[in-house]
Amino acid sequence: MSKVYAVNTASAQKANINREEYAALYEFSIRDPETFWSEQAKKYVDWFTPWQNVMDGDLQEGNIRWFHDATLNVCYNCLDRHLPEHKDNTAILWEGDEPHENEKITFQTLHEKVCQLANGLKSLGVKKGHRVCIYLPMIPQAAIAMLACARIGAVHSVVFAGFSAHALRERLIDADCSVLITAKEGRRGGKTIPLKDNVEHALQKCPCIQQVIMVDSPDKTYLDCKTLMDSMPKDCPAEPMQAEDPLFILYTSGSTGKPKGVLHTTAGYLLYTTMTFKQVFDYQPSDVYWCTADVGWVTGHSYLIYGPLSNAATTLMFASTPNYPDASRIWQVVDKHQVTILYTAPTAIRALMRDGDDYVKKTSRKTLRLLGTVGEPINPEVWEWYYHMVGEGRCPVVDTWWQTETGGIMISPLPGATELKPGSATLPMLGIEPALLDEQDKEIQGPGTGKLVIKKPWPSIMRTVYGDHKRFLETYLKPAAGYYFTGDKANRDEDGFYWLAGRLDDVINVSGHRLGTAEIESAIVSHKAVAEAAVVSFPHDIKGEAIYAFVTPITGITVDDNLMGEIKARVKHVIGSIAVPDIIQFTSDLPKTRSGKIMRRILRNIAHGELQDFGDTSTLADPTIVDALIAQKPALK
Ligand code: ATP
Ligand code: MG
Repeated sequence: MSKVYAVNTASAQKANINREEYAALYEFSIRDPETFWSEQAKKYVDWFTPWQNVMDGDLQEGNIRWFHDATLNVCYNCLDRHLPEHKDNTAILWEGDEPHENEKITFQTLHEKVCQLANGLKSLGVKKGHRVCIYLPMIPQAAIAMLACARIGAVHSVVFAGFSAHALRERLIDADCSVLITAKEGRRGGKTIPLKDNVEHALQKCPCIQQVIMVDSPDKTYLDCKTLMDSMPKDCPAEPMQAEDPLFILYTSGSTGKPKGVLHTTAGYLLYTTMTFKQVFDYQPSDVYWCTADVGWVTGHSYLIYGPLSNAATTLMFASTPNYPDASRIWQVVDKHQVTILYTAPTAIRALMRDGDDYVKKTSRKTLRLLGTVGEPINPEVWEWYYHMVGEGRCPVVDTWWQTETGGIMISPLPGATELKPGSATLPMLGIEPALLDEQDKEIQGPGTGKLVIKKPWPSIMRTVYGDHKRFLETYLKPAAGYYFTGDKANRDEDGFYWLAGRLDDVINVSGHRLGTAEIESAIVSHKAVAEAAVVSFPHDIKGEAIYAFVTPITGITVDDNLMGEIKARVKHVIGSIAVPDIIQFTSDLPKTRSGKIMRRILRNIAHGELQDFGDTSTLADPTIVDALIAQKPALK
């Protein structure tokens, strides 16, 4: 039996939606999606001209359109419509790499700056539909650039500032960008990121780029952003966009293969992120909301910029890392800015947990009322730490499952409406109908384990892989005909709650038993000496596949055979002997994507002894970890 936390009454007093309302609305949203989405569209979005058609197309053909005959503008919804009432409210609260670097930007100022840059882009010949690449650190200019593109109908492609010249060039060429907005350098965790060097390198073989705008360096070779903006009027009409006009392209993290240029469009994306932001974070006008994700990832698009700003929320933008200069920083920022909602990733929580409780305890955190997580399955042990140590049992934890491709949160508790089970993303959002398929692609009814798919199109489903519609169909719509295929595996319990079990590619088949990596990893992490674990398989003569676990201990722990024995005993106790790892390799770190996700496919190569070709490693954060793992690999028996 899994542990259950009752609906949190402290938050329920505030909640936008309670349990009965959720159940009734959910049922209605599935029974009559047209009416449901029509109502939401009127409630959450301001339109220039209304729609006749709510949705057309289907998951067979992949020709999905939402509100396609309506017009609107995303930037208008994020800024202009808030000016009458909220112009002096803080839109962006910026905390730099060093604790003394702070800036507050009101909706009024943000509007002016966005208009100036929008006019600047127009003056350079950027038109509706042109692609603009944004390669910037976590500074307000990144948000300004995104909104300026949205204002004039240019399609942005944000590339994470931690990416190399090679990765940047690939993305510039793939999206055929004509303008690049960048900076001389960024700072993160006390280190300098040499953006300009990367840009110069990338541009050597990148004919599509015609203009480079630098935000921080008056340099004759490039256009200076400030000079460009200062010469422009502070008003720029928001371009009326068709609902299905592209809003942005964003490349997936690449944990499973070559990154895909996911394309999102205007109306459906805006509606879905605005609605889910309000519901999942139970957003109230007095909140100070902090999402730690970088703008380079989808979370940084949907729940750092668009969802919050569309709701007129104050969004905290953080240029540093949670543990710089030390592991107290994240909690100090919470106290300093009186943060009420914190949304971060399991990788960050595990790292903070590894450094010990003292860093947390010396801060107050009393303003916090809601905690969120996204990006990977959160081990129950880590969830409990987040809930009890960080939130002192007061703040519901929303474990939000979604993907770059889904545009917004798909499965998550709603505070005040959903019971919490540590490690479960719980229930679907309104209007979202997940299903589990068995080996024969038949829908599983009731409790069970299978491939997670979505049954009907929702407003923010990706529309295509940029420039490669065939890849879109083949990756997402063909694997299970008539469904959107997520590529993830999940369990559903007797209450209908979903438990994400990892990627389908990562499922391990031991003597005919199919085990999810997430389950085994959580069992290992439940040992008190363990901070993090990643599990993969390797071929085995008798069992078919055997289990190889890479384990990172808590700071200060010495590893020995005794610990190895204890970890195996722990897994045997939690899951059973079938899941006990055949090999445990201790390591001080794991290979991760630049967004902090464990790259199991690289670990699988190591476990298989395939050390020559690691495939696309452009998204790997620190290649030296891979070298160390190879050097320290125990001999296979
Ligand atoms: P690529 O598709 O290029 O391999 P990626 O899947 O890591 O990269 P994202 O879109 O950033 O790219 O991540 C989505 C994936 O992250 C999901 O499919 C799922 O595997 C995992 N994920 C996200 N949130 C959660 C969560 N709350 N619980 C479990 N898994 C999650
Ligand atoms: Mg993916």
